[in-house]
Amino acid sequence: MKKFKVKIHSKILIGLILGAIFGSVFHMSANEIEVVSRSGKEKITDFAEVKFLKGDSVLISYDANSQLSIIRYLKTFTDKKVKDLIKVKITLKSGEVKYFTNLIEITKVKSAGALIKPVGDIFIRLLNMIAVPLVFASLLVGAASLSDLRHVARVGGKTITIFMFTTIIAIVVGLVMANLIQPGHFMPPETKAMLLQTYSDEASSKIQQDVSMNMIDFFVNLVPKNPFRAIADGDFLQIVFYAILTGVFLTQVPKDKSKTIIDFFDGLSSAMILLVEKVMLLAPYAVFALISATVAEFGFNILQTLLMYVVTVMTGLLILMIFMYPTLLKVVARQKVIPFYKALRQVMIVAFSTSSSAATLPLEIEVAEKKLGVPNNIASFVLPLGATVNMDGTALYQAVAAMFIAQVYGIEMDLTKQITIVVTSVLASIGTAPVPGVGLIMLIIVLRSVGIPEEGIALILGVDRVLDMARTVPNIVSDSFTAVTVAKSEGVLGEMQVE
Ligand code: ASP
Repeated sequence: MKKFKVKIHSKILIGLILGAIFGSVFHMSANEIEVVSRSGKEKITDFAEVKFLKGDSVLISYDANSQLSIIRYLKTFTDKKVKDLIKVKITLKSGEVKYFTNLIEITKVKSAGALIKPVGDIFIRLLNMIAVPLVFASLLVGAASLSDLRHVARVGGKTITIFMFTTIIAIVVGLVMANLIQPGHFMPPETKAMLLQTYSDEASSKIQQDVSMNMIDFFVNLVPKNPFRAIADGDFLQIVFYAILTGVFLTQVPKDKSKTIIDFFDGLSSAMILLVEKVMLLAPYAVFALISATVAEFGFNILQTLLMYVVTVMTGLLILMIFMYPTLLKVVARQKVIPFYKALRQVMIVAFSTSSSAATLPLEIEVAEKKLGVPNNIASFVLPLGATVNMDGTALYQAVAAMFIAQVYGIEMDLTKQITIVVTSVLASIGTAPVPGVGLIMLIIVLRSVGIPEEGIALILGVDRVLDMARTVPNIVSDSFTAVTVAKSEGVLGEMQVE
């Protein structure tokens, strides 16, 4: 009898759906907290009121709907001596009163939905572990098959042009959506005050990271002072730079000297590709764990509060996925859309559940070479570069977020300011590292450029995780689209292999 076999991408999709269900069933309760003090941990269920006291005076008092504020309030006391003076008085719904001193922290109570996250973390670590040796080895081998540096410059020129083009369109789409929907005008002043208060500490810790983006420094930093440090730090741009130069110059030394090195890296890159395939066997379970943990931890109330903002970003991202890439794929690369997206199914789900272009990169390279017909030397050049600098989803999100915050603060955004947003969102998205949540930090550059208060990021922090997952998908689709288009224009694109 023939055994019925579920394909890996269907398994991953099932993992994603089941993970979302599991996470919502085993959701962390909004009415439970765990108080950790030097005398131990205690789980508190059904509290009616939480008061922070210093001596006999009440510092602040929270009701049952303020779990996040309660957790964050204690975090504001960074000085241990001051913290030691703080007492918590918790009144339960039953009327019972509890006091806690010698406080360490107050946390949410982890549910089963969140406890399984380590399975997902192992998966992400495995992918990250593969990314650097894979990029370095395959790019070095790929560059060794290029005839000269002029060839690299031509491919590089085309790649950057497409990256810029799609990023600018993405930002314009975001601005159009923000102007049409005007999500900021749906927010009542009391919600604004509540969000600013709840997320103010997290916002200021992000603002303190002191971001900046300078194109000259960016180019200077492409050149690694020490390529081994670049590898150790996982700095893809520097790795790409060094690998290309080494690969190209390997072709210019006698064969008996270069062959061993090229064969060595060829072997390493083949082993890494094989490892990606094996790691992907874990993907259904890892995706289940990651999605479950995110859903379990997510505060759905906040989603309601910021619904119009989330809808604006999501609509913009969908426009990229449903109209922009398909149109460009047909018109510029003359490729079929459905097979392209079918080939990218797994890649998109991994991007969505890890929120990290860097973690998705190894799978993306494998799929580009094996399914999209992109030759190794183009895939291993365009994709790592794209993962690091080309982020259409992030750029769109930064533009919408800036407009949203401006609307909530009642700041007029005229055409000049919106053009400034186009320019700074391009820069901010280039500067965004391909890991979860950095898009939000780089947003500060955009806000600064048009005089929007930086602490406004507190308004959108609560839903950033979901939007991060969503924006990472176009971030990587755009890179694969570029790899296909560049390969096509070079006349080296093979047939797509999709079952
Ligand atoms: N998570 C995004 C990525 O890895 C970056 C961001 O927008 O935060 O592509």
